[in-house]
Amino acid sequence: MNRRTAYDCLVVVLYFGLAVYLLPRLLAVWAVAPTWVQAAVVAAVIPLAAVGGARDARRSRRRRRKELGLCASCGYSLTGNTSGVCPECGAAVGAARDPAD
Ligand SMILES: [Zn+2]
Repeated sequence: MNRRTAYDCLVVVLYFGLAVYLLPRLLAVWAVAPTWVQAAVVAAVIPLAAVGGARDARRSRRRRRKELGLCASCGYSLTGNTSGVCPECGAAVGAARDPAD
């Protein structure tokens, strides 16, 4: 198990523990909240979860590509590349950053 995997496992365990602690309390508040508050929370949480999930998937894909020696932006193999620039998309090798990061 490498450090990244151990960190990911720790994050999952912490979030699970937080969920187990908070969920009953949130449900108790949720049950007595006015309908408009419930609707507003649902309307806010769904897009935020979608954006967060997409961002996490993008970060994970870029990290996996870097670990495999591929361009983080387009996935092109950078084996033997000495120019410091991806020949497929022009991204700087090793310095390519996602604007959403
Ligand atoms: Zn590329």
